[in-house]
Amino acid sequence: MVKETGEADGIAIHVAGLHKSFGALEVLKGIDLTVRRGEVVCVIGPSGSGKSTLLRCVNLLEEPTSGSVTVAGTEVTDPDVDIDRVRRRIGMVFQAFNLFPHLTALENLTIAQRRVLRRDKAEAVRIGRDTLRRVGLSDKESAYPAQLSGGQQQRVAIARALSMDPELMLFDEPTSALDPELVGDVLAVMRALADEGMTMLVVTHEMSFAREVADRVVFMDDGVIVEEGGPEQVVSDPVHPRTRAFLTRVL
Ligand code: ADP
Ligand code: MG
Repeated sequence: MVKETGEADGIAIHVAGLHKSFGALEVLKGIDLTVRRGEVVCVIGPSGSGKSTLLRCVNLLEEPTSGSVTVAGTEVTDPDVDIDRVRRRIGMVFQAFNLFPHLTALENLTIAQRRVLRRDKAEAVRIGRDTLRRVGLSDKESAYPAQLSGGQQQRVAIARALSMDPELMLFDEPTSALDPELVGDVLAVMRALADEGMTMLVVTHEMSFAREVADRVVFMDDGVIVEEGGPEQVVSDPVHPRTRAFLTRVL
């Protein structure tokens, strides 16, 4: 029996004692993290510290070595879990946009709605158009990915995730592949989502975004959470020397 705690506790993601190894390499060394519904949590830290692996363990793109992960009341680390059902509730946006190159922006939004959620074509198109409007791309519904800028492609990728009505969104360095002048439009879409109350777990190097939008910032280094707290504390006045050293390098 898969453990369902329900969502009355207001917790969107609960990670407890999470370890992940690849062969002899221990990448996550005991992570405890709680994200409440409606909260925006930014994860910062050096390259190789395990940030992507943590996100990938939340939707079981990686299988944890030990520990538990509970998403929206369902323990995803339970062997009996229907992981497809859980993943349907989680939107994920990666550094690489992963759009289908042979489909238009609108078709990229309708295909999963039709196949996974079994929406009929008219409804998928209606929701797809609504969602493209939310990310400021109403005029691009017929464009193919190659005809869009990187920032526009990433906004289509965000819209695609949103069109599936996710309960929470995971972002893994969504602006890292973009030219600097295109970053702002993507961050603006993410900021609007946060303002609407979306639960978001965001790996980012954008310290101004973390400072202004995050309810909480988590600093990871070498597979552990070194420091966590409000952005004014972790980003602006870090306690731990490793956090300070990292911020000195990126700010
Ligand atoms: P970050 O996102 O913080 O840069 P990652 O979670 O991507 O860090 O990677 C953490 C460590 O795990 C790195 O040393 C990386 O090489 C290693 N790693 C990640 N994925 C795999 C994998 N599938 N197989 C082996 N090693 C991996
Ligand atoms: Mg990464």
